[in-house]
Amino acid sequence: MVVGAGPAGCAISLLLARADIPVTLLEAEPRLSSPFRGEALMPSGFEALEQLGFPCLPATVPQRRLKGWRVLVEGHPLLEVPEPIGPGPACTLVAQEELLATLLAQASESSCFERRQGVRVTGLRRKGDRIGGVTLGDGESLAADLVVACDGRASLLREEAGLPLQLAPPQHEVLWFLLAAEAVAEIREWLGGTFLTVLGAGNGFALFETAADQNLRLGWLCRPGDGLDLSPGEWLEHLAQTCAAPLAPWLRQLPTSALQGPLRLPIQVGLAKRWHQNGFLLLGDGAHPLSPVRAQGLNMALRDAVVAAEELLPALRQGGGPALDAALPGIERRRQPELHRIQALQAAESSSGELLRSQGWLRQLLAAQPSLFRPLMTQIWLGRQRQLRQGLPLGSSPGVP
Ligand SMILES: Cc1cc2nc3c(=O)[nH]c(=O)nc-3n(C[C@H](O)[C@H](O)[C@H](O)COP(=O)(O)OP(=O)(O)OC[C@H]3O[C@@H](n4cnc5c(N)ncnc54)[C@H](O)[C@@H]3O)c2cc1C
Repeated sequence: MVVGAGPAGCAISLLLARADIPVTLLEAEPRLSSPFRGEALMPSGFEALEQLGFPCLPATVPQRRLKGWRVLVEGHPLLEVPEPIGPGPACTLVAQEELLATLLAQASESSCFERRQGVRVTGLRRKGDRIGGVTLGDGESLAADLVVACDGRASLLREEAGLPLQLAPPQHEVLWFLLAAEAVAEIREWLGGTFLTVLGAGNGFALFETAADQNLRLGWLCRPGDGLDLSPGEWLEHLAQTCAAPLAPWLRQLPTSALQGPLRLPIQVGLAKRWHQNGFLLLGDGAHPLSPVRAQGLNMALRDAVVAAEELLPALRQGGGPALDAALPGIERRRQPELHRIQALQAAESSSGELLRSQGWLRQLLAAQPSLFRPLMTQIWLGRQRQLRQGLPLGSSPGVP
């Protein structure tokens, strides 16, 4: 049984169903859509998708290849790096809802797969020293040989199973906005398909074109709990003050109706020391809520599922029980090193951004002499990106049928 139809839950459901293992997927929300979920696929995510049976992204999934990365400091370009960086495909933005629907459509081809949408799991049921299923909001109780909890960063089932998160110190939060396509043609053309980071006047934001349409997504960085309670017009002015021409005047000219949001994403970064109990496995954000820095969440969730399937399938074919429980520690052992590495790289990236954001003298210095500092900054940045994009080798495995 799988709880949660995000990337981790859909991917593990597909891999199990394809191997003729009976699997029921339970999802609380009536639809796969959500206001916004991570949508950047890195080479590490493409590698996982290939293992899921998609050597390339299906054309039915709206997608947008990034053209490159740009960082503006006090209006001056500090960094401009084209995609792809290093080996593998370019970072690509995908519409998560359609990607998940594609995975589930494949899973549905197996008669072993059952999907129950709009069903909230409220607890775990126990059988002796094992977790033996779940309870639902309406009191129904479902038995299972294994509960795979893919219920996201606020995982109820992680709590219920008594698997605490080791939390990293609080990091910044992100306020997400959408800029309506019809109002931002000039900005979109100027962006040219790049992912832009703007640092200035003690603030910072990221701006990029979404995968599914021509809207622009804007992520405003702020400290935890920063209570900026601004009207859309005040927000546009605040954003404009953080950047320079040509972006600043374009933002000031936008009609306030073009700005939607903000949607606050509180960033809780952590790693569960233990991902399993007998009869229970935690995957995805539930096991390792990540920072949004360089969009790793979708990629790591897919990679968790690939490794979990590789470890679980032999035991499931033997009928579950003790063999199944014995397979669980191997999943955590194989996934922990990559998650530790990714979280450390994200923290380093976040600290550099915070330093630039908070130290006006440093921004002025870099902005005054961009050609002097650009090669060094580019080198440091690229060193981190390559590791963030590729992940660690998924490790030796018997292969997923
Ligand atoms: C607003 C927002 C913005 C984000 N931005 C980024 C980003 O820019 N870059 C990035 O990499 N990542 C981002 N993320 C995180 C990224 O989306 C996740 O890392 C990724 O989706 C993790 O996948 P998952 O399958 O583990 O969990 P999720 O995608 O969170 O899926 C969990 C699923 O479980 C369901 N569920 C929860 N509880 C229950 C229950 N009790 N019963 C049944 N179903 C339940 C939920 O409805 C949900 O569908 C963002 C997340 C949010 C919420």
